[in-house]
Amino acid sequence: MSNEEYNPYQELLKTINEAGQQLGLTRDDYKILEKPDRELKVSIPIEKDDGSVEVFDGYRVQHCNSRGPYKGGVRYHPKVDIDEIRALAGWMTLKCSLVDIPYGGAKGGIQCDPGQLSKSELKKITRRYTTMIEPIIGIDKDIPAPDVNTNAQIMSWIYDTYSMIKGHNIPGIVTGKPRIIEGCLAREGATGRGVMITVENLFQKLDKDLEDIKIAVQGFGNVGQVAAKLLEEKGCRIVAVSDVSCGLYNEDGLDINELIEFVGSDRNYLKEFVNNNGTKKITNGELLRLDIDVLIPAALENQITAEVALDIKTDFIVEAANGPTTREADSILAERDITIMPDILANAGGVIVSYFEWVQNKEASRWEDDETNKKLRNLLTKAFKQVWETYEEQQVSLRMAAYMVALNRIIETKKIRGIFP
Ligand code: GLU
Repeated sequence: MSNEEYNPYQELLKTINEAGQQLGLTRDDYKILEKPDRELKVSIPIEKDDGSVEVFDGYRVQHCNSRGPYKGGVRYHPKVDIDEIRALAGWMTLKCSLVDIPYGGAKGGIQCDPGQLSKSELKKITRRYTTMIEPIIGIDKDIPAPDVNTNAQIMSWIYDTYSMIKGHNIPGIVTGKPRIIEGCLAREGATGRGVMITVENLFQKLDKDLEDIKIAVQGFGNVGQVAAKLLEEKGCRIVAVSDVSCGLYNEDGLDINELIEFVGSDRNYLKEFVNNNGTKKITNGELLRLDIDVLIPAALENQITAEVALDIKTDFIVEAANGPTTREADSILAERDITIMPDILANAGGVIVSYFEWVQNKEASRWEDDETNKKLRNLLTKAFKQVWETYEEQQVSLRMAAYMVALNRIIETKKIRGIFP
């Protein structure tokens, strides 16, 4: 399948269909999930720092809200388009159901290159976008959060803009805020922490030791950095990491803290990193093909294609990104006995802690980080056990098992509620 043919939403629908059949459902049972409930396309004009005007495309897709308000991040990226946002919204529906938090799924995005925009331009884009989607979001309607290239600062602007429109402060409108404005400190590292917990759960289940296993992480943004750092703390050897500029490889293990510091808030690229202790520059393609124990794709979708899958030399893939593996690659990897911990489980830590932040905002309370992290581990581990049980009982892949658990819960909710009117 060429890149032009790749449509993440169609991929998602095929996997839902397969899970529906495995569960013995009829298509009528899950047909409702084939089309998102609501899609909003907005235009976002801003006056740039040089006085020129630029108009960006933005989206908010609300996929399904049977189990609770729509929930999902907002992504800023040049490749954002409606099919990507639809797929990401659908994955949120499944993810929230799988880890059993009372949310449906949504996603938003703006087609832009944040690297080319100043802070003031980013602020204008965010405020205008929030104003445009304001009619369809709300604390009990749809709650945005960070995703690729968005962060606590951007969430603060969403919170502020929405609160200004409504005339009073509504912190629960968005999650992933800084602590000072009722954010949950643990949220920033939550997705990466969830990835680490998933690796731990997997290795514990297989009775394998984490000590000194070799890991490569594709993507060195918030999720990749935290996952690498926490796994390094567990004794794993992070032999490679990469960003859009290049990959770094060191057989003895990279110093993750040093790299995080180097990349820093100025967003330096890894290709500028100089270190003579045996660290080599490699390409992203080489990173995916390294002879290692665990590969963690933590960048974008459509990275592990059929072509890559044929060359992969890892035993395990833990999907920190959403949709990094294509369906074609999935079957090749299954044949090659490579175990995949699917995205909707492995990266669910972010939305779980978003849920905790929202609960705290709703009840105007503040929990300790330790308490939050403990609750995160409990929810993720419970979901892991359910997935593993289904995987063993039904003799399906772990991805299929995760989809079956998630879909079953959504369909049960839909059946009890009925179709309105
Ligand atoms: N963007 C994250 C995800 O894909 C988190 C969404 C949220 O916290 O609502 O899961």
